[in-house]
Amino acid sequence: MVNKRKVAVLGATGMMGQKFVQLLAHHPWFEVSAVAASDKSVGREYASSIGSRKEANLPDELGALVLTEPKPQALDDPDIAFSALPAEVAGPVEEDFAKAGMPVFSNASSHRMDPYVPLLNPEVNPEHAEMVEEQKRRMKTDGFIVANPNCTTAILTLSLKPLQDKFGLETVVVSSMQAVSGAGYPGVASLDIMQNVIPFIRNEEEKVEHETNKILGTLSKPAGITVSASCNRVPTLYGHMEAIFAKTRSSATPNEIIRAMREFKGTPQQLKLPSAPEHPIIVREEEDRPQTRLDVDEGNGMALGHNLIRGGAGCSILNAELLLAKKLIK
Ligand code: NAP
Repeated sequence: MVNKRKVAVLGATGMMGQKFVQLLAHHPWFEVSAVAASDKSVGREYASSIGSRKEANLPDELGALVLTEPKPQALDDPDIAFSALPAEVAGPVEEDFAKAGMPVFSNASSHRMDPYVPLLNPEVNPEHAEMVEEQKRRMKTDGFIVANPNCTTAILTLSLKPLQDKFGLETVVVSSMQAVSGAGYPGVASLDIMQNVIPFIRNEEEKVEHETNKILGTLSKPAGITVSASCNRVPTLYGHMEAIFAKTRSSATPNEIIRAMREFKGTPQQLKLPSAPEHPIIVREEEDRPQTRLDVDEGNGMALGHNLIRGGAGCSILNAELLLAKKLIK
């Protein structure tokens, strides 16, 4: 791709927003032209605004960007918006960007269950991307919203997809062990989480149960899988571990399951999209792996369970690559 698309990151100062900027900094198809955050950050230089919250080294030209309000008219006409806004504010803001003709790739929960918004995990349900055509028709604009799943659901559905394809799925029971960065900045108070496990994350279990069925369903019908989730916050920084028990419709041996997962590849791999990991699922033979600290960065965070990458910004960027490759973005 010769001309890079200009992209805006909304909520750029937060945990997810910073991960977007970091992953986009050297992207072959996109370049960050605008960063937006809340009133308290507007007018400040990006690098100084994130200050001690800074997650990674930034190229100077991105650090020098000045933060604006997340409003289409406040930005210099980007081609695409990536949203890392909190759900409380994301809903109407993302709609404004879509109505202004922009494709919006959102991490927030606000529009995930809207009927014409694809809830996209690109290796799992790439065919759902077509829903944006119906959104465009209804809104009479070239803009649209694509959501990516809740972090826990992104990791879960990727692991389930090869099993659903080969054996069918009846019931899924999942227990998560979720990192503190999943709660955004400043996240869970250290006095609450150190030496502790908190067996409750508000609304998370409901999101996992509903989103999984939308993603693994068809364009017109949820999958009808009985999903039971128990979500726990644990004192790790990055990476959500999940223990998953699945009842398949046809019988499967452990070796058949391993082979299905190991051989699994999706449309992003076939299209050789820039952010697609070679193997979206990695199967480890050792009895004590995966481990969060040792394995979270496998596949550049796009295999196994990095909450900010497969569970967030990385998934969103891969969604945008997929829609560009499918010519669903003008
Ligand atoms: P965060 O660290 O709290 O960051 C929130 C961002 O939104 C900051 O840039 C903040 O700007 C901005 N913001 C807050 N209120 C605003 C307002 N009224 N108007 C404009 N901007 C506002 O949160 P996060 O963890 O990055 O999460 C961002 C989104 O991603 C959420 O919807 C979350 O549910 C979703 N998500 C997060 C994860 C994860 O692992 N963290 C995973 C999947 C999805 P200031 O710095 O100016 O306050």
